[in-house]
Amino acid sequence: MKNWRKLIIPLSVFIAVFIAHLLYYKIVSQNSSPIWWKLYVVTQMYFIGFSLGLSFAFGAYALTMMRSRSKSAVAGSAVIAFLVWFTSACGAPMIAIVFGIVGISIGTTALPPIASALMTILFISLGYLWLKRKSLSCADACAAKTKENAEAFKDIGLDIEKFSSQQCITGDLYSKTFKTQDNRPKAMEYFDNMVSDIYGSRVKEILSAKKQGQIVVGNFCVFVPEELILAAGGVSIGLCAGSQAPIADAEKVLPRNICPLVKSAYGYALTKANPYFQTVDFVCGETTCDAKKKTWELMNKEIPTYVMEIPQMKRPKDRDLWFEEVKDFKTKIEEMSKKTISSDSLTEAVKIMNNKRSALKRLNSLRHHNPSPISGKDALLVEQIAFYDDPVRFTEKVNALCDELEGRIKDGVYAAPSSAPRIMLSGSPMALPNWKLHNIIESAGGIVVNEESCIGTRYFNDNIAENNNNLNDKLLALTNRYMKINCACFTPNDERINQVFEEYKSSKADGVIHYSLQFCHTYNIEAIKIKEVCDKEGIPFLAIETDYSSEDIGQLRTRVEAFLEQIGERVYAGRH
Ligand code: SF4
Ligand code: SF4
Repeated sequence: MKNWRKLIIPLSVFIAVFIAHLLYYKIVSQNSSPIWWKLYVVTQMYFIGFSLGLSFAFGAYALTMMRSRSKSAVAGSAVIAFLVWFTSACGAPMIAIVFGIVGISIGTTALPPIASALMTILFISLGYLWLKRKSLSCADACAAKTKENAEAFKDIGLDIEKFSSQQCITGDLYSKTFKTQDNRPKAMEYFDNMVSDIYGSRVKEILSAKKQGQIVVGNFCVFVPEELILAAGGVSIGLCAGSQAPIADAEKVLPRNICPLVKSAYGYALTKANPYFQTVDFVCGETTCDAKKKTWELMNKEIPTYVMEIPQMKRPKDRDLWFEEVKDFKTKIEEMSKKTISSDSLTEAVKIMNNKRSALKRLNSLRHHNPSPISGKDALLVEQIAFYDDPVRFTEKVNALCDELEGRIKDGVYAAPSSAPRIMLSGSPMALPNWKLHNIIESAGGIVVNEESCIGTRYFNDNIAENNNNLNDKLLALTNRYMKINCACFTPNDERINQVFEEYKSSKADGVIHYSLQFCHTYNIEAIKIKEVCDKEGIPFLAIETDYSSEDIGQLRTRVEAFLEQIGERVYAGRH
């Protein structure tokens, strides 16, 4: 049934074009002849009608497939569609003309109609094979990947059936969101491959690290010091989840009115549908918000869960508490990994993380060039992959991307015109594969140039001082760095309000959209203070509260379009 639906448009086009050719023949060519239709048959003009109908039908088919296909598939189809037209149009007189130009005579200005039809069929068959080969549908690709992964993951307790049904959702969404962009930096290819195989090769890499005795720790907050995990030779994976897929299962246990990030992560742990959750030795939760800290008690039934207490204020005694928590976490990692974290190994880990943060910071500052050389969607994708990838390799790839972006700026190659309203987002984290708001903003003609978020600047803004000599001082420097994160769970949290304003200025944004996940009280309430500052400074401001579903996309699009329009004139006046 589904396949039939795909054929309705090409079939209708074929019939319409065939009839149009018939009418053309009657009206234009044989208008005066009472036996025009006999002539149509005798001269075999129906082969030409057939050829034209088939070539237009193939063009329509390729267009309907275009939305989620790769650029090379679409480009290949366009070339083939042209060749089809070239051979079928009016018995292909063009072929004889072109041959004539290069000195080859084929004796006639047109092919016999039947030859034209046969050539059309030949080219269309080639075109169809090209489309098939170059653009396996997500379902096909996922089926192939799932089959391969199922074998590799059979020992980690993954619910293969559930995993298979959810795996494709990310792939399909990714194609529609990213592959439809024009003129992307070439260095994005690495991140594209990473995300299109997000549940494949990186998971296998982690499993092989585990086999060699490396500890694997999952975490849900940028407060968890990855340096300590790396210093023990471990692998740190960010497990904040941005997918709608596991939420229905989570809601069978959790109340519905908590934030989707928590429900999505818990849903994965509960259903055993995500290989990353199945690879970890334990997860590290924290006490940032109520939804999280109570969920860890339930999460512990599915995966061993360790909880760090994050202070809610930033007084000296809160800093002391956090220092103690950092030291306890170090002990936990040492126990689990059976390795001692030495001063040298911590220094090495700090360097790795500092390099990673510096690369992300470099990328972010390149986005601040006006116009930006990279789309907000692509930059967000890089920021999201930061939580999955090997940190050393990731840093290398981000720096390669930055080199390319510097070249693009020099050559005047940008991701959006200078008239595009520049938007800074601020608020709750957007975990993979949550691209909803970026997609809405950029489809409406804006460009996102900064994320004041934990999947954004709060993750990479500050580095750790590297000039300390003993282990205790190094741990203290690490503690101090993490205490600079301005999560909305702190009170008072004026540092964040200042940070939003500073980043607004440095990113040369034209407006701020505050993004709050549904039922995230801390960010929702803090949006009020950010609005006050924006109003005072004359900064256009919009507050959005949403979840991971697609239900409110239409409504959000209307609000975002109105916001972009509101700031559009001001942008135009300022830049022209
Ligand atoms: S928003 Fe707060 S709780 Fe969430 S990851 Fe950031 S610091 Fe952690
Ligand atoms: S987005 Fe808000 S409610 Fe959700 S986990 Fe983070 S702080 Fe908690």
